[in-house]
Amino acid sequence: MSLVITLKDSPGAPGRSSPTIICDVCEEEIKTAGEGMYEWVSEAEVDGRGRATVYFAHTGDCSWESKRRGRSSSIPLVALPAYLLRNLGCSLEESEESADNMGKPL
Ligand SMILES: [Zn+2]
Repeated sequence: MSLVITLKDSPGAPGRSSPTIICDVCEEEIKTAGEGMYEWVSEAEVDGRGRATVYFAHTGDCSWESKRRGRSSSIPLVALPAYLLRNLGCSLEESEESADNMGKPL
């Protein structure tokens, strides 16, 4: 499940589509970057193309449970946007401008 679109209400804009990260352990929304991790199985278990599935977990008990399930590598969720922007060759300013053109971000 992990990354999904949810419909959220904001003043004057009900039911806006909003990318949302769901914890793969408890299946609740991770509401702030500081309360989550992104995790994957160790490098020895990536597929033949050097790719591993990304899982999300709340810090604390959910992250410990995720590690028990074999996801031994993890990084704080707050770092993910920077890594993605670098790997996509996109600046934060470009990303914000595009999001603003799509409508008020939620
Ligand atoms: Zn959780």
